[in-house]
Amino acid sequence: MSIQEEVQKRKTFAIISHPDAGKTTLTETMLLFGNLIREAGTVKGKKSGKFATSDWMEIEKQRGISVTSSVMNFPYEGYEVNILDTPGHEDFSEDTYRTLTAVDSVVMVIDSTKGIEAQTKKLFKVCRMRGIPIFTFFNKVDREGREPLDLMEEIEEVLEIETYPMNYPAGMGKRFLGTFDRQSNEFVRYLQNGQEERVPYDELEADEYAELRQQEEFQMAQDEVALLDEAGESFSLDAVLAGEQTPVFFGSALAPFGVETFLDSFIEMAPAPGSRQTTEGVVEPTEEDFSGFIFKIQANMNPNHRDRIAFVRICSGKFTRDMSVKLSRTGKTINLSQSQQFVASQRGTIQEAYAGDIIGIYDPNVYHIGDTITESKTPFEFDELPQFPPELYKTVTAKNVMKSKQFYKGIEQLVQEGAIQLFKKFHTESFIVGAVGQLQFDVFQYRMKNEYNSDVMLEDIGERIPRWLKPEQVDESIFDSRSTLVRDREDNPVVLFKNEFSLNLFKDRHPEVDLIDLYEVN
Ligand code: GDP
Repeated sequence: MSIQEEVQKRKTFAIISHPDAGKTTLTETMLLFGNLIREAGTVKGKKSGKFATSDWMEIEKQRGISVTSSVMNFPYEGYEVNILDTPGHEDFSEDTYRTLTAVDSVVMVIDSTKGIEAQTKKLFKVCRMRGIPIFTFFNKVDREGREPLDLMEEIEEVLEIETYPMNYPAGMGKRFLGTFDRQSNEFVRYLQNGQEERVPYDELEADEYAELRQQEEFQMAQDEVALLDEAGESFSLDAVLAGEQTPVFFGSALAPFGVETFLDSFIEMAPAPGSRQTTEGVVEPTEEDFSGFIFKIQANMNPNHRDRIAFVRICSGKFTRDMSVKLSRTGKTINLSQSQQFVASQRGTIQEAYAGDIIGIYDPNVYHIGDTITESKTPFEFDELPQFPPELYKTVTAKNVMKSKQFYKGIEQLVQEGAIQLFKKFHTESFIVGAVGQLQFDVFQYRMKNEYNSDVMLEDIGERIPRWLKPEQVDESIFDSRSTLVRDREDNPVVLFKNEFSLNLFKDRHPEVDLIDLYEVN
């Protein structure tokens, strides 16, 4: 098969949702259709050491959540589907955001009884801003939910995105009768035994459906569908691919109902890997030379080995097991045959992989997040991964000063891995760590102790607003307790403002100082 054909077969996406919306159930059901697992209900508890197991850390068990993002792969109707799981916890870490750079589309799972929940807004908005195509699955129609029109309106308002219902539910909860499938013009009946029966619209007039037709829920939904056909948005695949319209599906991951329909339409519409911007121009996924970037580094996947695994999103060419690549940042050649590699599939070690695939390679401590590896004669780098403004800050010190070596080593590696962001105070060289959510601190502290044998103390200094300074404008005398002067890990000067007020006050008093917001979303 040509590279072109291989690339067209790939569908790489992330599933995002608020905890308990049904992401795991939907993933399991999709894997079931993909025949990867015989019985749904085994992904979470699987102890076979396979990749789908994401609870690799004690902390995850303690808190009952999945801290890391895992990757799953399954073949479906001639396609290679790659699902990147993201932690659905309210404490989003940067890890989640970075995962979004490695996918070509996202599936947003929303609990129809609840709608968009506060903590998830942030993540959904990032997808929207990045223009990633978003597919919406309103889950749990088998429970009393909110009005479908109401749910869609909420999405339109919060995300400023058009919605196009691909199907439309008649009733919900105990009164759920099925959905109008607007693609196939069939009514998909929900039968008591969980089966689906497809009835073309023009056959609905038959006597055997008289009872169905008489039900209020059916009639109301029929009217609403007619209204949508007349006055609603029209479907546009271009708008979907531009991230301006989201196809909306109603179903139940658990029943399961509507999942196969969802998967089929999703696979058809979701984009295959596209071109990517680099320092040397655009790279097409079908180019001969292999290239990819590291979006995640994870240590200790296997507690018996202190491994670090770098996750690579392939962007072009063909990956083979024994290839040599160049690490663009250092220019060094790395022979990948010496590193164990895997994709998230039941087929064991991979022989080859293409754009859209995610591979894990053993990291002997040489990779950084955002690194590009390539076979190209002229090494290039992919666009920098977005950084997200840490919102919470803490000072960090070693409990035992005798163990400062472990302390520095741990901090250096975890910062390099992107687990947390580091700032150093001027003169005193004391450390401040910044994170997007509290969970990131917990993971940091846990890993410092377990991987580097360094007990650390974290002291809350609360929220801060970071602004970068031009080195020539650093004048220590103009900063006070409301604005702490620090350096970032690359030694660039940064001011951490206590709040909006102190930031504005500073701007008024020192209009001559340029304050740079590195995280400004364009
Ligand atoms: P996650 O936290 O988003 O991964 O959510 P889970 O998949 O673990 O689901 C959370 C709970 O909702 C579980 O008890 C599921 O059995 C339940 N659930 C998931 N999908 C459905 C659905 O379609 N209908 C109903 N009634 N319950 C569901």
